[in-house]
Amino acid sequence: MTFFDPQLFRQQFPLLVDNDKSNFEKSDSNTGLIYFDNAATTQKPKQVIDSQQGYYQELNANVHRASHQLSTKATIAFENARALTQKFINAQHINQIIWSKGATESINIITHSLARNTLKQGDEIVLCVSEHHANIVPWQIVAEQTGAIIKVLPINALGYLDVNQLDKVITEKTKFVACAHISNVIGKINPISLIIEKAKSVGAISVIDGAQAVAHVNIDVQALDCDFYVFSAHKMYGPTGVGVLYGKQALLESMSPYQGGGEMIKTVSFINGVTYNTLPFKLEAGTPNIAGVVTFAESIKFLSPLLTSVDNNYALYEKSLIDYCYQALSKIPQVTFIVEGAPDIPVFAFTVVGHHNQDLAIALDAHGIAIRSGHHCAMPLMETLSLRGCLRVSLAAYNTRAEVDYFIDCLQSLINDNH
Ligand code: PLP
Repeated sequence: MTFFDPQLFRQQFPLLVDNDKSNFEKSDSNTGLIYFDNAATTQKPKQVIDSQQGYYQELNANVHRASHQLSTKATIAFENARALTQKFINAQHINQIIWSKGATESINIITHSLARNTLKQGDEIVLCVSEHHANIVPWQIVAEQTGAIIKVLPINALGYLDVNQLDKVITEKTKFVACAHISNVIGKINPISLIIEKAKSVGAISVIDGAQAVAHVNIDVQALDCDFYVFSAHKMYGPTGVGVLYGKQALLESMSPYQGGGEMIKTVSFINGVTYNTLPFKLEAGTPNIAGVVTFAESIKFLSPLLTSVDNNYALYEKSLIDYCYQALSKIPQVTFIVEGAPDIPVFAFTVVGHHNQDLAIALDAHGIAIRSGHHCAMPLMETLSLRGCLRVSLAAYNTRAEVDYFIDCLQSLINDNH
């Protein structure tokens, strides 16, 4: 489907269709679901759900191992998913796509198998203040292990990484620069090309966390020229438990194994020791999440044409949702956005004067509206904004203006009721 029709798009998500609010009486506030927690995970279209079942019914066998036909078929499906992923982000070689459990594990592979081996006392790692904990804690662990120092890039009032600080923070001492393409709280597209370029100019390795970008932005790792790009399948209409680590070939080659076990070896001997497999298998020990990876192929087939279509209607529809929701929230005087300006993807972070975040989130849930409250795995961002937490409303292209209206009505009533 390259032509994007919001209604047809929504029809493909059984969980949303089965729980559509418009199928129920408005007065029955507990019935139906408005799912506004898409930055945490997206719902899955039928073709992705069917693919998982189809895999177990028709293809289930371990990959790369047996010489029987079923295993060959499973291996072909598994490796086809890798080829699709390579194409999806425009990686040069298929062996630059390493499977992981998610963006978190992909970052941990980098810190464990590369940074831990190369960082020395006093070397510097640069992170952005708005990073998800997944792109902070692995670096804190490796800094503790090696004596490296973490430096932090600030954001500006609009919530973008502050490029005016790049020259000050990224220096000859910098060995890694790790930064989110888009923050999971702020929803603004960071100027990653500038960051990658700056990292390169001092010989540092760039790591881009694309977890929030992949469902909204067409990614071209060769054009970006980043050293690593990581993301999770479940945030792009795919299954949980599958992640991607893309890396430049020479860096991946230089990495030590993340885990030891089957598949990542060439030879094992008690006399001669162990020799490792070639990429990508060297970094993929044990039986992988075969069903998840095969299913992920289906979500790429589902999403990729929308991100790359010439009519651009998927992006335009998301933009219209952003404008609509931003304007509606802006009209509520008690709503305070955590940064200035409309987001670039449909993620809205705000507090409501005179109300506890968690109370509002629970009250909205009672109306069937799923949003998030808390620190959103970005405690340093909360710290820098002097917040204990905030509310986060995150939409996807299957959400509608009617859902936004219902949410705004409910939020407004909850605010009014409390005064
Ligand atoms: N990075 C960002 C920006 C995220 O939003 C998330 C998840 O919310 C992650 C990393 C971690 O992804 P996962 O939990 O799929 O490993």
